Amino acid sequence: MALDRRAAFRGLPAIHRLLGDPAVREALAPIPGGLWVPALQDALAELRAMWAAGSPDPAVWAKETTTEAIAARARGLADRKLAAHLRPVLNLTGTVLHTNLGRAPLSKRAIAAICAVAEGYSNLEFDLASGERGSRHVHVERRLQALCGAEAALVVNNNAAAVLLVLSALAAGGEAVVSRGQLVEIGGSFRIPDVMAQAGVRLVEVGATNKTHLADFERAITPQTRLLVRVHTSNYRIVGFTEQPSLGELAALAHRNGLALYEDLGSGAFFDFAARGIGDEPTVAASLRAGVDVVTFSGDKLLGSAQAGIIAGAARWIEPMRKHPLMRALRPDKLTLAALDATLAAYSDEAWAAEEIPVVRMLTESYESVATRCRALAERLRSTMEAAQVRLEEADVASRVGGGALPQVELPSRALRLRAAHVSAQQLFDDLRTVPAVPVVGRLAQDAVLLDVRTLLPGQEDILVHSVEAVAAHLLARV
Ligand SMILES: *Cc1c(COP(=O)(O)O)cnc(C)c1O
Repeated sequence: MALDRRAAFRGLPAIHRLLGDPAVREALAPIPGGLWVPALQDALAELRAMWAAGSPDPAVWAKETTTEAIAARARGLADRKLAAHLRPVLNLTGTVLHTNLGRAPLSKRAIAAICAVAEGYSNLEFDLASGERGSRHVHVERRLQALCGAEAALVVNNNAAAVLLVLSALAAGGEAVVSRGQLVEIGGSFRIPDVMAQAGVRLVEVGATNKTHLADFERAITPQTRLLVRVHTSNYRIVGFTEQPSLGELAALAHRNGLALYEDLGSGAFFDFAARGIGDEPTVAASLRAGVDVVTFSGDKLLGSAQAGIIAGAARWIEPMRKHPLMRALRPDKLTLAALDATLAAYSDEAWAAEEIPVVRMLTESYESVATRCRALAERLRSTMEAAQVRLEEADVASRVGGGALPQVELPSRALRLRAAHVSAQQLFDDLRTVPAVPVVGRLAQDAVLLDVRTLLPGQEDILVHSVEAVAAHLLARV
């Protein structure tokens, strides 16, 4: 026999009674006192909403409306409200620098460095030797000098900010010359011609899409010219009948005319990926050696650190940027500088960088090593997946660099391939992403879910198994 709904609702305990109950006080003890009343109100409202239509089954109602059950419900609702909205997910897409998933995971030492300065005060702008005011830039400047031979360096919030600052400080009111093949758009509507306009620089395009000659640059130089600009076409390649003047030729031309050569490198590697057969990314040091006066690059692309834009090069050109009014608006915070400092330190030894910096480690991990990790996961998951009627196989896939870097590179990799008997691949893919445990983001291909193990970080295996098992349990309940 069903209960009378109104009578049942009237029988719910009053808030002040709940607050006086020791079981309620114990359940809510871990959350701030000011949240107790709203949490209990939410719990009662949820109970009423569950039976907004129809009448409660007496057994279920009795079970759900004990003070313990109401307290547990209130606690669950409060916990959900307090939970961080920005939270960790497992990246099984195989895209190492996944911009939507936060680009570069940080090294253990970078994380420790962030915690060390976050917890208290630091010498951010305080020179401990003299006791006088210092500069926040010195912390990473000396490392950049050592790593890439730059005379001076500055850090801003991201590489987009770096491009804006360089153009504003060195070319505002004048002209900057760029090849037509390099008028790049990167994600989020950041386009070189638009940034030029924003910085008050007149863009002078030279050459054709596929070919630009040194003479094209030479002819474009006028008394209004301030900069020659090279943009690394990081997220696309023009192949076939193509030509660009070399950096050395461009630098010589710029210097003959008293101008600076500026190169936006995009990723800016300190690790020689090309030497290991991975792509053709120029290193920062190689650009500066070739005569480039100012380079800019991201902190969280191939470098593998925190979001930042790094400007490095000749002191003569960097100094005006330090004093530019935009610098104050674009300056990085101490957490970013701590992470960069620690990440750059690891580049002092290539083998150490490949071990210590997750992005470098993931990009250089061999197929065999990924396959071994994939096999171990498959073995752990096999029986659970069989029970849930999910077919589990291991498959060869290609991982991507991502983040608009090295677009043509495919890294041979190994993935778990999941196909469920009773639900679509799309449904399984959605279930993995929305699981209440740590979300798993994979890829959909050939009517299956692919989980590329290359981008699963060491130590995340248990978390992945737990999330996948939660999805399997959910599937079993639905079968
Ligand atoms: C990625 C990129 C940028 C922007 O860097 P963010 O750090 O994402 O702001 C600018 N220029 C090039 C060529 C890039 O590849």
